[in-house]
Amino acid sequence: PSMAQNGRVTTDFKQSNQAHNSNAFARREEIRQQRESLPIASVKERLIEEVKKHDVLIIVGETGSGKTTQIPQFLFSAGFCREGKSVGITQPRRVAAVTVAKRVAEECGVELGQKVGYSIRFDDRTSGVTRIKYMTDGLLLREALLDPYLSRYSVVIVDEAHERTVHTDVLLGLLKNSQDRKFPPLKLIIMSASLDARVFSEYFGGARAVHIQGRQHPVDILYTLYPEKDYVDAALVTIFQIHLEERHGDILVFLTGQEEIEAVERLVQERLRQLPESNRKLVTVPIFSSLPSEQQMRVFMPAPDGHRKVVLATNIAETSVTIPGIKFVIDPGFVKARSYDPAKGMESLIIIPTSKAQALQRSGRAGREGPGKCFRLYPESEFEKLEDSTKPEIKRCNLANVILQLKALGVDDIFGFDFIEKPSRAAIVKSLEHLFLLGALTDDCKLSDPVGHQMARLPLDPIYSKALILASQFNCLEEMLITVAMLSVDSVFYAPREKLDESRTAAKCFASPDGDHITLINVYRAAEDLLEKRKWVPHTERNEKIFKAKSEKIFKRWCKENFINGRSVRHARDIHSQIRGHVEQMGLRITSCGDDMLQFRRCLAASFFINAALKQPEGNYRAFGTGQVVQIHPSSVLFQSKVECVVFNEMVQTTNKYIRNVTRIEYMWLTELAPHYYTMQS
Ligand code: ADP
Ligand code: MG
Repeated sequence: PSMAQNGRVTTDFKQSNQAHNSNAFARREEIRQQRESLPIASVKERLIEEVKKHDVLIIVGETGSGKTTQIPQFLFSAGFCREGKSVGITQPRRVAAVTVAKRVAEECGVELGQKVGYSIRFDDRTSGVTRIKYMTDGLLLREALLDPYLSRYSVVIVDEAHERTVHTDVLLGLLKNSQDRKFPPLKLIIMSASLDARVFSEYFGGARAVHIQGRQHPVDILYTLYPEKDYVDAALVTIFQIHLEERHGDILVFLTGQEEIEAVERLVQERLRQLPESNRKLVTVPIFSSLPSEQQMRVFMPAPDGHRKVVLATNIAETSVTIPGIKFVIDPGFVKARSYDPAKGMESLIIIPTSKAQALQRSGRAGREGPGKCFRLYPESEFEKLEDSTKPEIKRCNLANVILQLKALGVDDIFGFDFIEKPSRAAIVKSLEHLFLLGALTDDCKLSDPVGHQMARLPLDPIYSKALILASQFNCLEEMLITVAMLSVDSVFYAPREKLDESRTAAKCFASPDGDHITLINVYRAAEDLLEKRKWVPHTERNEKIFKAKSEKIFKRWCKENFINGRSVRHARDIHSQIRGHVEQMGLRITSCGDDMLQFRRCLAASFFINAALKQPEGNYRAFGTGQVVQIHPSSVLFQSKVECVVFNEMVQTTNKYIRNVTRIEYMWLTELAPHYYTMQS
């Protein structure tokens, strides 16, 4: 038997101690061999020398070559963590930070949170002894607020820099800025999977770039003859085509988000049931950012013997997370991306075609361990039309959040800030205006006291931070905390296509005639009741256990019956407790408005006045801020209702412009609660 097979048995808890020890040994041995066979292992000494020699170093290397997992360990062993200093590594995605930290902790043979840890928004697994710390780029940016020179780090590694998230770009700007002033300078390593290191090198005054040779086997690229009308359906057909016609090897499917992934998961299960027993050996494994972290690790586990694994992933699996065993890639050619219209001040998430660079990265995932195949679900002629590379996020997002943080860091001149790529002047102006309207800035564009400073401290979209601050004045902070938590997760309702009516009926029992925000509160409280009501049990350890198991079971059934997404609700509960901690620390008063939902709706109006819309004679709505004609999204409880005036949180654009998360308000409240905006408008 191979080492790998031995290793897998360690998850079986029923073995004798002796067996356990030898399996643990086998596992360690397996990991050692895996590490040694990584392309990066042979250049360890050279890399350490380069880091010693250069304060800024750019490392470019094929995905899967070992950059993220190995380089921090190299630096640790080379003595970069002496005197209590740490190596910090940023990732654009939460999932990557978590899964990689877990893996590296295992490689080092330590418990997660000790020498190796991770920290992401709403989830911190580090301690005083942590020396290798994985985190999101956004989180390091927040740390800079408290410690502008990042003095606890000896090295900061900005990983996946080619992704060019807005946080990565701002972080690079700040680091460049502070490096000139700090002595000894912080070591900065920029890692990228894309071969073009030039932008980074030029930005850092001709910084040194090294390339790590990767390993890549040939990948056959297959295109469809005609464009596909429904790429989800096309993906499904392709999964089964591979499963039934191709020899062994796992499949990786790129989808755009949680809802799509969960829909495909259900459809695969359904079709499997229609196949003969012998053909059912297919397991699905989802991976997306809001998946609870215990479940994220499932993608790294091999499928049960004789089974094929289908990984359903967002573009997380493009470069951030390397999944072993993949031989087939299905690429529908789409990705969910942020988009910002500075003229209207409107940010939205839209599904757009990938760039050529992304398509290449995706197909590359099939050739890591041997020759593979990539099924692009579009005709070859379409590939030629794709953009070469993805536009940096800073050019297509609302900058309010970033500006708030830069201001809190003392960077007042946003126009003069040395960005790697400057956002448009219009976008900066619009975002400043947005912050000004929220009361975060003074007339001369400084952070206001205390509101602006309070807003900068909360790890939320500025409009949500402001809503919490206002809610403490409206005596409904409890309700607003729930609302903000629920708005921060993916949809809690799911409506499978095949059971649309049933799911709509189920959703009705939570619906509030006032709108979606109160509906979300109803769902949250119902879930809380199920998971926490325990008046009838005395608190003993045994009872706790029984209660927990029981309530979990009831909760699961309840979710199923009510078409509620249990994962999302749990995630919201998590976020809730974290933000609650923040606002408590800030000294805000947490009270509930009880049944007085009028008060709560007034607070929503005061908070979200920028996103208000008024009914038009022909039945549509017109958004005040942007003048756009919009419709209430079919998923809203106010869909097809006849309310006059609403506030909303989100606009999505498909064939029509839809507003989502909508609540009924009175027009008069706007002029009363946001006179600075509504007198200006009229
Ligand atoms: P890079 O950053 O260069 O893309 P990584 O350091 O992420 O490469 O990955 C190196 C290797 O470690 C890959 O073969 C990958 O499959 C493996 N790996 C990474 N994370 C895990 C994990 N959580 N479990 C098992 N293997 C992992
Ligand atoms: Mg990596």
